[in-house]
Amino acid sequence: MNIKTRFAPSSTGCLHIGSVRTALYSWLFAQHYNGSFILRIEDTDIKRSNNQYIDNIIKTLKWLGIFWDEGPYLQSDRLTIYKNKINELLDSGHAYRCYCSIDRLKKLRLKQILHGYKPNYDRKCRDKKRLILNNQDYVVRFKNPVTDQVIFHDQIRGKIIFNNSELDDLVIQRRNGMPTYNFCVVIDDLDMNITHVIRGEDHINNTPRQINILKALNAYIPNYAHVSMVINPDKSNFSKRKNACDVLEYKEKGFLKEAILNYLLRLGWSYQNQEIFDINEIKKIFSIRNISKSPSEFNLKKLLWFNSYYLNKLPIDCMFINQLKKYLIKLNIQYNQDINIIKVIELMRSRCSTLQELAVKSRFFFDDIINIDAKLMKKYFFKQYNVILQFIYDTLYSLKFWNAESIIYSLKSIAMEFSILLKNIFMSLRIAITGSDQSPNISVIMEILGKERTLCRMKKLLKIAKDMFD
Ligand code: GLU
Repeated sequence: MNIKTRFAPSSTGCLHIGSVRTALYSWLFAQHYNGSFILRIEDTDIKRSNNQYIDNIIKTLKWLGIFWDEGPYLQSDRLTIYKNKINELLDSGHAYRCYCSIDRLKKLRLKQILHGYKPNYDRKCRDKKRLILNNQDYVVRFKNPVTDQVIFHDQIRGKIIFNNSELDDLVIQRRNGMPTYNFCVVIDDLDMNITHVIRGEDHINNTPRQINILKALNAYIPNYAHVSMVINPDKSNFSKRKNACDVLEYKEKGFLKEAILNYLLRLGWSYQNQEIFDINEIKKIFSIRNISKSPSEFNLKKLLWFNSYYLNKLPIDCMFINQLKKYLIKLNIQYNQDINIIKVIELMRSRCSTLQELAVKSRFFFDDIINIDAKLMKKYFFKQYNVILQFIYDTLYSLKFWNAESIIYSLKSIAMEFSILLKNIFMSLRIAITGSDQSPNISVIMEILGKERTLCRMKKLLKIAKDMFD
């Protein structure tokens, strides 16, 4: 069998973390079997659909490298196909026009609720053979069987049974002539030869209705796999209030696609005790069997852990550097050609979890305007330091080979000569050069910055220290 899966987001919002995970599983499953993966955009909800969301869907998938083999198909381009199929069902007696007014349906619903019944359409128009009333509003309903059961084997959840008596005569065409989701999805999956429908568990209740429509069309029933929901750590629905839902927001914040993919993969899928997966490796081992049935808790800390892992593991190539440059530009940091950015990354990345953080923490390399905090000056500087600082400046000024080893060597001998702790010298230099009392090895930073820049910053410190104690 030639495996064919699809991802069918509605264009009514940005692509949500949970939806991207479904897309990933669906894509990986197809990749595993050398099959194909389709992108289909469900945009028949005219009021809520928006092209900006279609762009968001496409950008997100492209960024993550989840590429589709066919599409993107837009349901709005396929309206004639749906219309013809609805007519086919009307002709074969599997569907009927329902002329019940909105008012009647409302009253019916209210009555059923008041009497403790599940609200259902009472099938008033079902048996009025081929009823056609001119100039009157109608919807088209699917004639759902009233007896027997729909049984399907969910590839994640096992056997699922629905009684037909619980299923309504579903509206497949609205009053405005537009086909409804449950109908379009069936026709598309059929037309596009989808073999495996992998989607969110919120669609489980739709599956028996869709299977019944497929049966009425004498069509092949695909395999179904309903993936569990992503929830907040407090078990509530994953929502924007607590975490960013739109995946591109994570990109903006400096998350790497490798981390997002690995995190989403593990959020509901496992393979032995392994955490880290290379995308090509996953394609080889991915199987639906290892998808969890339970809801998955979104955990930002874990995502940050993955991001930090990949930030430190990825080769520092042009791609990495270009990504970082984008964040430097966003922070208005003028990227400076004569600073070796590879060395900056090598030194700084182990202290960061995101590209954005890397850009912020590396700012002092590229930005010469270092603001020296008065509080730090008070904490770390004493009057007698002025002489020592001047001496350090002069020594470094006359240093021939500007590298971390010779800088350290000189500083060590100054510390000995003045009987002060080396760590105190380091701290003064750290404050002068980075503006902060925390940084990696200061002599390595000085080497990367170069002699001229280092001395320039020291001069500024000397002036501040002098003003402070004069
Ligand atoms: N459009 C639906 C959604 O965004 C998915 C439909 C399906 O996969 O069958 O939830």
